[in-house]
Amino acid sequence: MADTAEVDRAVERARAAFPAWRAVAPGDRARLLRRFARVVDEHAEELARLEITGAGHTAGNARWEAGNVRDVLDFYAGAPERDHGRQIPVPGGVDVTFAEPLGVVGIIVPWNFPMVIMTWGVAPALAAGNTVIVKPAEWTPLTALRLAELALEAGLPEGVLQVVPGEGEVAGARLVEHPDVRKIVFTGSTEVGKLIGAKAAEQVKRVTLELGGKSANIVFADSDLARAAESAPMAVFDNSGQDCCARSRILVQRSVHDDFLARLTEAVREVKVGDPGDPASQMGPLISAEHRERVASFVTEADVYARGSCPSGPGYWFPPTVLAGSSSESFRRAFTEEIFGPVVAVVPFEDEADAVRIANDTAYGLSGSIWTRDVGRALRVARAVEAGNLSVNSHSSVRYWTPFGGFKQSGLGRELGPDALSAFTETKNVFISTE
Ligand code: NAD
Repeated sequence: MADTAEVDRAVERARAAFPAWRAVAPGDRARLLRRFARVVDEHAEELARLEITGAGHTAGNARWEAGNVRDVLDFYAGAPERDHGRQIPVPGGVDVTFAEPLGVVGIIVPWNFPMVIMTWGVAPALAAGNTVIVKPAEWTPLTALRLAELALEAGLPEGVLQVVPGEGEVAGARLVEHPDVRKIVFTGSTEVGKLIGAKAAEQVKRVTLELGGKSANIVFADSDLARAAESAPMAVFDNSGQDCCARSRILVQRSVHDDFLARLTEAVREVKVGDPGDPASQMGPLISAEHRERVASFVTEADVYARGSCPSGPGYWFPPTVLAGSSSESFRRAFTEEIFGPVVAVVPFEDEADAVRIANDTAYGLSGSIWTRDVGRALRVARAVEAGNLSVNSHSSVRYWTPFGGFKQSGLGRELGPDALSAFTETKNVFISTE
């Protein structure tokens, strides 16, 4: 657990490493990142095991995540040679822009997807020529530490990528305050994100914020109801619901509401909750006893419509839970607040306008799904829902080559996709007189 003095020493090392790292020729920086991706690939099973052990991820998810780390590094390894500026026509000379790296970048990571969220910041930040300090979540530092070792093994110079495990209010806060840290990428709760945004503003420090969500899964009567119902459980219960993109509100058109609930109940009962190391498990435990208490506080027995099963032995187990058919105060709370656990609340809607109104009646705006066979409606609703990542007739949110981020209080800025380097560079304009 790093204290502020240790963070300061890390910043000093990162600052010292910056001039040489930014000067590495683009092709050589690309090669180093590709080698880092290869070393990650060689250690994919080990990294997956660490995430299963440290964060309780299912084996299927953890393996996908290790692969995602490799792919994100590989993708941004293609960026250094393409990080070009522009030449803009001006009278009396030549005008060019440069994409300059920022310097030292701090990346503060939550516990729910430790290694992938870290890498979504690390890869483009390094590709752009910055040096990076990662502050992993208190509960899940293992994959971050291992990735920093693998970076050295791949040949990244000392000080270019460092990991400082520590408390948010100590190590994280110091990164935000430190005048030599030029940018903070923060993924975590909206509450802490607001604090960080306010603190960073004192130094006009650049921030990217990836915060909470309460995403809507909107099911229209004209949809393929069987597919919509079958896919709905894992759209919220994946990673035990500890997913910022969890579709934790299901909005169903009234004429198919009861039919959908019957199908959903069947699908929820089939979710396999068990030992995360067992490849057959679709859902593991929650991260901690404390978090389980919090999740349980959202569930009032009278609001429960259906429940899946979970093991009863040691572990922070919580069964997949469907709340529906209630208008109680507790149901409203479960329908509006981010639970971050395997709990979904279902409500009926009347028509398209009503669906959009309910979907947007939240401070969040991260993700969501729209189920309909009417392509015009799919596009109208996709344009009307205030969220950064929507999917039609599917629940996909994240591909490393498409942009990811939130509207409203779900965040600020975007990660991933073709433009991620612009979040880690400053545009510099230079005019050269030919007079
Ligand atoms: P959190 O806000 O409690 O902590 C996130 C990180 O911030 C941790 O590393 C923590 O140590 C650090 N931190 C805490 N207080 C700090 C402070 N004062 N200064 C600096 N750093 C501080 O969040 P969590 O509980 O770890 O994660 C769950 C939350 O993250 C959920 O709200 C979830 O929706 C959100 N999340 C968002 C995304 C996204 O991309 N939008 C992705 C994953 C998780």
